Parts: sequence; C-alpha cells; structure tokens
Amino acid sequence: MFSSSQRQILRAISESGPLSRSALMSILGVSKGAMSGLVRDLIDRGILQETVPVYGSGRPSLLLDIHPNCALTLGVSLMQDPAPVVLTDLGGTIIAQATIPLSRDPATIATSIAKAVAQLLASNLEAKERLAGIGIALSGFVDETQSHCIQSTLLGWQNVPLAEMVAAHVEVPVYIENDAKAVAVSEKLFGETREVTNFSLVSFGDGIGCAHFIDGQLYRGNHGGAGEIAHLTIEPGGLPCRCGKRGCLDTVSSMHAIREAARAEGMVCEQLDDIEVQAATGNSTAIRILHRAGSALGLAIAHIIQLNDPGQILVTHDEHAFDGLFGTVMRQAIESNVLPQQAVQTNIRTLRVDHNVWARGAAAIAAHRFLVNPAGPY
Ligand SMILES: [Zn+2]
Repeated sequence: MFSSSQRQILRAISESGPLSRSALMSILGVSKGAMSGLVRDLIDRGILQETVPVYGSGRPSLLLDIHPNCALTLGVSLMQDPAPVVLTDLGGTIIAQATIPLSRDPATIATSIAKAVAQLLASNLEAKERLAGIGIALSGFVDETQSHCIQSTLLGWQNVPLAEMVAAHVEVPVYIENDAKAVAVSEKLFGETREVTNFSLVSFGDGIGCAHFIDGQLYRGNHGGAGEIAHLTIEPGGLPCRCGKRGCLDTVSSMHAIREAARAEGMVCEQLDDIEVQAATGNSTAIRILHRAGSALGLAIAHIIQLNDPGQILVTHDEHAFDGLFGTVMRQAIESNVLPQQAVQTNIRTLRVDHNVWARGAAAIAAHRFLVNPAGPY
C-alpha cells in the first residue's frame, strides 16, 4: 500500500509530530522534486493533510500531518468485564462501540471478539471497507510480533497466540499489546506526547502499568517486559503480590492496594476521592495510607527518571482527586529522589482518562502498524 519512502515519511511524522517538507527531505535524504511526488500521492489518497502555516524567517511553511480519517481501526480491552470494543478513526475518536463478556478462555474470547467486530461493521459498509486492523490490549507480557501473549497473571495465560486465533475469524490484521504500552502508543501517535521523543507513561488504576518511548520508539525489552514497574520490589518482605513476590509497588500504591489498606483500617474507600476527603479533614489513618502509597509511586517514578532520563513522565488516572494528597506526595517523592538537575528538567504531567482508554489504546496499536510497519515489530 505504501512505498518504503512513504513509510519513512509516516514513521517520521508519527515519531516527531507534524513536519515540513524540508524537514522530511533532510530526514529521507531525497530531492525537493522526489519529496513533492511522494507527499502529493499521500495527500491525494487522504493519508496526509497540510496543517496551519508556520511562520519562520523565510516563507511560511505548511506542516504535514497524518489525516485521522484516512483509515479506521478497532480496539478491544481485556482489562475490564464486560470488555469494551471500539471502532475509531486514527485520531482515537470513537465512531461506534460495543461490549463483550470477558472470558479467560482464549477460544471463547476470540469468538466473542469476532462476533462483536461483525456486528459493529454490519450496519456500516463504509467502515468495513476502511478498516485497517484490530488491536487488543491486555495485562501481561506480549511478544515483539504482537501476536502471542507470553504471560498474563490476570488472565491466567501462558503463550496464547490470541492474535492468530482472532485473525482466523476476520479479514484484517490483528495485533495484541500490553495495556500500558498500548496507551503509550496511543498518546504518542495522536495524544499528549506526540512531540516528545523520550517519555514514560505510568498508568494508575486498580493496577499500575508503565511503558517507555526511547528515541521515538516503544521500548519493549527482550521479552516484552520493559516498564513493569508494578512489580518493582518497593518494600522488601512486604505484602504478597499476585505475581508471587512480596512488597511489589502494586501492593502499596495501586488503587486496589489503597482500597485494601483503607478497609483493613475499617474505612470505606471505593475511589481515591473517598480517602482523600477523609485525609483533608485530618484523619491520620487516611493521611498515612496516602503518604505510603504516594511516596512509593513517586520513588518508582524517580527510579525511571534516574535510569532513562525521559523528557516527560505522563501519569494517567481516572480519579477526580488525583492531585490531592496522594498526587502531591508522589511529586514530592519524585523530586527528593532524583538528582536536582533531573528534577528540574523532567516534566511530570498527569492526565485524567476515561474507561475507554485501554480500548482506544488497542485501536492505536492497529493504527500504528497500518501507518508505520504492518509486517514487523516496532
Ligand atoms: Zn508483583
């Protein structure tokens, strides 16, 4: 569908954000005439669009960006029950959605996904023609070809070829990805971190997830496990974790851990807001729980900063009160545990997300593969 030069253009824009023709010429090392032909074809096919003019010292230049409507992708989140299925454009805008019952049986979930896809497309022939791929986000390790779930504690899976199982029922490519990595790809492609080359995304929720972009590309590690901060040992000999170890970050700082700590003290806590309200009234137990959780998460993030020197840390969450005591203590712990120079240089941002964040992230995986690399790994 795209020539290798056109893929280079799409990769450059997806890694850097919108670019001018002259910037693309120097990246690809091609002449003005050759670039003009490559870009013209992509604009005519609705893949690229020209954005608002940018005024510099010379003539104003138009930046080239990927057109969000050039294709559609489907995303499925296996993080929730029922599992959301969303049809989106490449900008992550949801066009249609459905849910399916979550199953831990791979064959059952593959069949359910295929049925939901068929139903979503049945009433929309145009969407069927424009569908470029399907992405599935799950908790666990995924291989670099994005076809096998190597291991998922949450789903109880080992070496499950889920992408192939779903692909047997549909006519478009299917890819799977770790939940936090999928959201990081989504933010990099069309979200908050488009123009950031090096960043780490930390997702705060019932569990904690993390993913790194290094030099504009997702860093997977050797076994797909890079960024698993949830299972950093933060309290040696601490509480048992679902992974089998003790004292993991997940047992201290996740929403699940905060809820359990509050319950053990006889407090009612469903959301972070509940315990933040009690802390704000001076309840010493609530303050202690939030301090412990926030400082542990901040310490883990400080370790990421010290190891990778990212330009930005983006913390996603779905809580109203994230920037209360918990968020404040988290930021203080980051500051006091990294070198002063890095504390100043690293931009820490928080982003409130909705319950479709994982499914949209999954759709972004298929979008990224469509644009940049349909065959190989990242
Ligand atoms: Zn663990």
